[in-house]
Amino acid sequence: MIISMKRHASREEIDGVIQRITEFGYKIHAIEGEERVVIGAIGVGDTSHCLEALSALDCVEKAVPISAPYKFVSREFKTNDSVVTVAPGIEIGHDQFVVMAGPCSVESETQIMESAHLARQGGALVLRGGAFKPRTSPYDFQGLAEEGLKLLAKARAETGLAIVTEVMSDAEVPLVAEYADIMQVGARNMQNFALLKALGKCGRPVLLKRGLSSTIKELLMSAEYIVAHGNKDIMLCERGIRTFETATRNTCDIVSIALLREMTHLPVVLDPSHATGKRSLVPPLSRAAVAIGADALILEIHPNPAKAMSDGAQSLDPRQWLTMMEELQPYIALWKQARLAAQPVAV
Ligand code: PEP
Ligand code: MN
Repeated sequence: MIISMKRHASREEIDGVIQRITEFGYKIHAIEGEERVVIGAIGVGDTSHCLEALSALDCVEKAVPISAPYKFVSREFKTNDSVVTVAPGIEIGHDQFVVMAGPCSVESETQIMESAHLARQGGALVLRGGAFKPRTSPYDFQGLAEEGLKLLAKARAETGLAIVTEVMSDAEVPLVAEYADIMQVGARNMQNFALLKALGKCGRPVLLKRGLSSTIKELLMSAEYIVAHGNKDIMLCERGIRTFETATRNTCDIVSIALLREMTHLPVVLDPSHATGKRSLVPPLSRAAVAIGADALILEIHPNPAKAMSDGAQSLDPRQWLTMMEELQPYIALWKQARLAAQPVAV
């Protein structure tokens, strides 16, 4: 349930309400808002008794149940967009359209350094690159593991870019969190609940990718796991889903971006590389993502895609990447105007 306090409720009144909620056997999961405090509480069973008692208090504006099963990530719980600060000056979900770019995998020092400089040259603020790779075949390149993380940290030190990289298991969360600014959950792990729980406690923002055959509701439920375990800094990522269509690697559910922005306050990101599997489709799909209101892009670039150890066919080469970013600018300018026009309303 959501309990909205009156605009200028005092600290004592807020504490008193929190105590009443706890006495009813509910757990407080989130407290939001500066001007007006909104308390989120979860419990089992019938809420009507508790809601009635809280609604009767003078300092309470309203107490209502949250009907969505994904409680704290829902728009019902929080109407304003959430903003995730991934590094100083890099905010995803506000008025800055953020591009994350880099190779599929970290392959060598030269490759990641060249990629990082290229990413920066094109205007990316975040460098992507997998050190732990989820590969369909056990015989394919599995990533450089910690060595790859060290190279990413080196690239960050040299370019100032923030780092997003995949974490595949709960056991590896502390190691990856030492190096990453954003912890990426790959599509294959969207419902790895042990991993999601561990990410609740990792102290870093999470980029949660939609599972290969997952519904939007399942994606939101996975995000809810992370919030329920203590971490509300989550970005959701559409990266295409499996359908009967084989002309593209996946089928991009582009409208999921607009729909997610209705259903949740979390920032929404598109990965046009995995969504299509084909580099020529990455620029047009990126433009579509900006137009439909995504908060950020994550895409694959490589200094020499023909030599990439994974996902070369969908990686942009240096010229394609720089051209794409140039052509994207007018779309980003319109995006920014739209964002500034939709000023958040204080809660
Ligand atoms: C990746 O980002 O390199 C990746 C493996 O993506 P996904 O989990 O979306 O397939
Ligand atoms: Mn990839």
